[in-house]
Parts: sequence; structure tokens; C-alpha cells
Amino acid sequence: MASVPISFEFFPPKTDEQRATLEAALPKLKAIAPEYVSCTFGAGGSTLSYTPETIRHLREEHALDAAPHLSCMGGTRAEIRTLLDRYAEMGCRRIVALRGDLPSGMASYGDFRYASDLVEFIRKERDGRFHIEVACYPEVHPQSDDAHADLRHFKAKVDAGANGAITQYFYNPDAYFRFIDAARRGGIAIPIVPGIMPIANFTQLKRFSDLCGAEIPRWLSKRLHAYGDDVDSIREFAADVVAELCDRLVAGGAPGLHFYTLNRARATLAVIERMHRR
Ligand code: FAD
Repeated sequence: MASVPISFEFFPPKTDEQRATLEAALPKLKAIAPEYVSCTFGAGGSTLSYTPETIRHLREEHALDAAPHLSCMGGTRAEIRTLLDRYAEMGCRRIVALRGDLPSGMASYGDFRYASDLVEFIRKERDGRFHIEVACYPEVHPQSDDAHADLRHFKAKVDAGANGAITQYFYNPDAYFRFIDAARRGGIAIPIVPGIMPIANFTQLKRFSDLCGAEIPRWLSKRLHAYGDDVDSIREFAADVVAELCDRLVAGGAPGLHFYTLNRARATLAVIERMHRR
């Protein structure tokens, strides 16, 4: 087992099939005793009802400390206030506050422009109620071509009241360590937990990575590609690579590990079990 707190991220299931997939994964992931789990919020409010329903389900039916993601892009102050009330009633004490991305076809940003505006709003409306996590990007946010500006914008979220941060996923541990050094030099003192993406499906991973700006190192991409349809070999190799990444991050001082599970247990558990065996 990892020697640091573990958290798991889920997306809100919308169909019976997706609900069954998550339900099958939960007992296996609960066995790891995560510090908390989180549930994403669809861009532009597309999961406005699914996220709170999933949070309620995880908290009440599975006794998990479930934290909602809240993205402000396209949202109004009134909508965000209603969600904050709902989450407070459910007993939530942690929120992952994000900007989100403007969905195609949506013309207006809504009442908030950046995640720092949302953090400031949550602090103003519900000071002391929520522990606020924000996102950060060791390999730089895709819309930001300047790493210094990106770091300044991260600092703005911390100054607005963020208590902790979770990174976008990456496969190069040096990207994380250099980012931490730069953040500390820039006066950012909050814990920065690496986001970990276990590798289950290379085609899907490539698509995600192109969208979110995460880099798949060339050697890793070539090795994964070389396995072709040999799913078992891909699983073995990928679990080893990601477990080694996690070990290096923990050995280098990472305060926790946040796994992007995509609602499945297998790839995440393969990584955690390998960390345990090392
Ligand atoms: P911000 O911190 O607002 O940054 C967005 C961009 O704007 C960056 O390029 C930043 O440098 C720039 N910027 C910030 N402030 C300023 C300013 N004052 N002036 C000029 N530029 C500025 N998306 C979802 O839709 N739902 C989710 O549940 C979700 N969960 C996520 C969880 C994690 C851990 C991570 C890492 C990402 C998640 N995302 C989610 C994706 C996220 O919404 C996108 O990466 C989005 O593009 C940026 O969100 P942010 O909160 O980092 O935005």
C-alpha cells in the first residue's frame, strides 16, 4: 500500500450501464481506504444533477467522504450558491473548484471568468465551510503558453483561498519536482498532490492527453504502441511504469496521490498493488 493518503476521482454515471461499472469498482477501491473520493462536474453544467446525485450516493450508500468538483464556466452566482447549499446539507467539507472549459456552442462564460473567481466566491459565501482544492499543471495548462503566467494564475487561486491543489496527470516525474520548486519559490505553500492516470487504453489516453496538454513521453508512447492488441502486456507494462512514477513521487515528497480512475478499479489497483510489492 502507498505510504501517503490516496484519493480516487470518478465521473458521474449517467446510464444504467455506467452506474453498474462504478458500482462494481467501488468495493474494490474502498478496500484501499481512500482519504476521500471526488466526482467531476461536466463542462458548462452538463452534469448539474448527476454530480450531486453521485456525491449523495457515494456518501450515503458507500460511506465515502465524497467531494464534488464544481466548475464555474457558464454558471451563474445563483446556480453555484444553490450547489454550495446542497453540498453543505449533504455534509461535504471539501470541494474541487475549477474553471472548466467552454463547451462548443456555449457563447457565454457566465458570471465567473477564472477558477480564482470561483474560489473567491466560495470563500466569501461559505468561509470556513469548505476545504478548497484547485487544479494545477506541471506541464503548463494548454491555453497558457507561458509557464510563468500559468504559475502566477495558480498563485491567484491560492491567494483567493485554496487550501490544496491536485495536478493534471503527467508521466515525467521531473515535471512535477520542477513545478514544486517553482511554486515554492513563487510563494505557494499549499500541498500539491500529483494526479495519476493509470493506463488502461492507449488510444483513449492519447485522445485525453491531446486535449488536456499532458505529455506522453515518446519512449512510453512507442513502447505502448509496439504491444499492438496485446492487452495483457500493455496492462503489465503500464502498471509497472505508473507504479514506478508513483514511487518516485512519494520518495521525492509528494503529500498524496490522486488517481483518475475513470470509474474502473483494475488499472488503478494494479498500480497500487505494485507499489506495495516494491
Ligand atoms: P483556471 O485556473 O481558471 O485556468 C485556466 C486558464 O486560464 C489557464 O491557462 C490559466 O493560466 C489562465 N488564467 C487563469 N487566471 C487568469 C487571469 N487572471 N488572466 C489570464 N489568464 C488566466 N474540468 C471539468 O469540466 N470538470 C471537472 O470536474 C474537472 N476536474 C478537474 C480536476 C483536476 C484535478 C484537473 C487538473 C482538471 C480538471 N478539469 C475539470 C479540467 C479543467 O477544468 C480544465 O483544465 C480547464 O481548462 C482549466 O480549469 P482551471 O480550474 O485550472 O482554470
